Amino acid sequence: MRIGFTTSFPVEVIFAAGHTPVDLNNLFIGGDPAARVDNAERKGWPRNVCAWIKGLHEVAFEGFDAIVGITGGDCSNTHSLMSALADQSVEVIPFGFPYNRNAATLDREIAKLEERFGVTRAQTEDAKRRLDAIRARLVELDRLTWQENRVTGGENHLWLVSASDFGGDPDRFERELGEFLTLAKQRQPQPAGPRLAVLGVPPILTDLYDVLHELGVQVVFNEVQRQFAMPGLMPDIVTQYLAFTYPYTVFARLDDIVPQLATRGVDGVLSYTQAFCHRQIDNLLLRKYIDRPFLSIEGDRPGLVDARTRLRLESFLDIIT
Ligand code: SF4
Repeated sequence: MRIGFTTSFPVEVIFAAGHTPVDLNNLFIGGDPAARVDNAERKGWPRNVCAWIKGLHEVAFEGFDAIVGITGGDCSNTHSLMSALADQSVEVIPFGFPYNRNAATLDREIAKLEERFGVTRAQTEDAKRRLDAIRARLVELDRLTWQENRVTGGENHLWLVSASDFGGDPDRFERELGEFLTLAKQRQPQPAGPRLAVLGVPPILTDLYDVLHELGVQVVFNEVQRQFAMPGLMPDIVTQYLAFTYPYTVFARLDDIVPQLATRGVDGVLSYTQAFCHRQIDNLLLRKYIDRPFLSIEGDRPGLVDARTRLRLESFLDIIT
């Protein structure tokens, strides 16, 4: 079976059941995202709803047996998205991260998912061990980015964000990752540049990393993408998804971000926010508690970085260099 999902969740359960998980976000952004947003709007989806949600709605009809909707810890729009899908006869399966980051509650949520897919905890843990072997190699890829400058920020973004579903095929993913790492280790380091962190949901601006690369920036930390790759390699499934900061409060994110900025020698922070996203409020707290030069940029529809944003990026780089 092909199981879609709306954001990272214990995907181990789906693999353990022998199904293929597909992150709807990757499917949306990897196709023709602008056309999908236009299609949703032609059906009456409001202009002032986040473009990602409209894109997720469109791709949810591309051959899935069920959709797992993450109802706690991600996005309140997901609740309404699930209602819209259920209304069109799509099977929707809810999964919620507990707001209070409580281990027992998370354990129960994972158990419900296991029951729905007919797998035991032991099978889930086996799947986790398999995926952790790949995640360990992604930790190495991340190190090659910030320590050796042999992997670009854009490559880092793509590999880490793809770890939400491993392209639906962990064996192929691991093989391709191995080939990439072999090549990357043989490269000469890129010229050093200002070291930036990119915070926030993966940008809908399709050439942001190309623009940053062109401006000579070294992106040494992709916050949320790194979280999707579960770099903590925790001992069991519950502690792994407790360590995953994205679904909890902005303070959980700060506990990850602040030490990483120091470890990675970050010169400035680029905080990406999505138009009409509740995480814009979190961004106020990120700015308040991060003691580094901080630039917020916003994306709305899928497309290229606009001239104004590019100018703001250039001015920011002038300040920090
Ligand atoms: S960007 Fe924000 S509003 Fe849009 S889907 Fe993600 S969490 Fe929801």
